[in-house]
Amino acid sequence: MIKNKIGIIYDEIFAIKHTPPYPKPTFIAFEHPNRIRVMLETLKREQIFDNQHIIKIAPPEIEDNILELAHSKYHIDTIRRISEGGGGIIDDEVFVAPDTFEVSKMAVSGAITAVKKVISKEINQSIALIRPPGHHAFRDKSSGLCIFNNIALSIFYLRQKMNFSGKIAILDVDDHFGDGLAHYFYEDPSVLYISVHEYDFSQVDVGFINELGAGDGIGTNINIPVPEGLSTNEFLDLIDFVEPILREFAPSMLIVATGFDTYFADPIGNGHLTSDVFYNFSKKIRIIADELCEGKIAFILEGGYSIIGLQYCVLALVKGLLNENYASPSFEDLWRNEQSNLSNLEKIKKALMKMIKPYWNCF
Ligand SMILES: [Zn+2]
Repeated sequence: MIKNKIGIIYDEIFAIKHTPPYPKPTFIAFEHPNRIRVMLETLKREQIFDNQHIIKIAPPEIEDNILELAHSKYHIDTIRRISEGGGGIIDDEVFVAPDTFEVSKMAVSGAITAVKKVISKEINQSIALIRPPGHHAFRDKSSGLCIFNNIALSIFYLRQKMNFSGKIAILDVDDHFGDGLAHYFYEDPSVLYISVHEYDFSQVDVGFINELGAGDGIGTNINIPVPEGLSTNEFLDLIDFVEPILREFAPSMLIVATGFDTYFADPIGNGHLTSDVFYNFSKKIRIIADELCEGKIAFILEGGYSIIGLQYCVLALVKGLLNENYASPSFEDLWRNEQSNLSNLEKIKKALMKMIKPYWNCF
């Protein structure tokens, strides 16, 4: 494996601003600047930024009209107005602080920078450590801790500002279904959206296997709903499961909606993953991308709320890309669950294969 240039994209404001209002006994408090702070501290402590293959990149300021590539004026103005008015809570699941508009716009710029620099071959892979997350945001509304849809905006930027028409595959490994992101590309055959996410099988919800896309995009929306307690081996097995789809799709670039909320200690997600999974994951994805699209991958941060776990997850991801060794902290041994304990997963895979078979030769 040839060593690459890897860009780590962040701005210090992500580690300081857009702070949830306290005290609030709701889950919004977890989307806190400390998420980025602990990740940056660890990467610095581990001298990642001194590595000759790592390039630190600050996203530039962007104009407000860039947001219109994926959002209505009404939604953009709403966030700006609530920020200017001192902040507030939207729908119980989104908070807006006085500096939220500024920070959210910078998150969009981070995602755009991540894909732009990879497409223009300035770097081989990028990791955008940005917040607030984006994959639950829709054209007209914020939702689930997300303000603007960072990844959707980055793709529309490539399409409309850089005339990039190549196929793009999104692999969303956040613990939750990226409903907003799926929605944007549901009828678009040039964007493949694959999501692995926790699903409550006791009730009907979005993100089930029968949402396959529509119109020209039929077959290019692939949902893999998994029960609570996803284990290390199961997660990696699911990546192997989607590999032939990625190969057949043959994208020009891979975007990973990188959520770390499948980590065992995450206060929101209910997965059982330990940080070494993200080491093996980034190695695996890098090998696939090397074969398919000259290694072009942008990892764009979505969720992940364990202040203890985030630092190890991101370090593991970076070490995997660098093809260096990674040893997970010993406390994770208590939780490591490598055996598959979910027989339902095989059933889900089989049912999904049956549904997508008409659209994919690999099944
Ligand atoms: Zn999530």
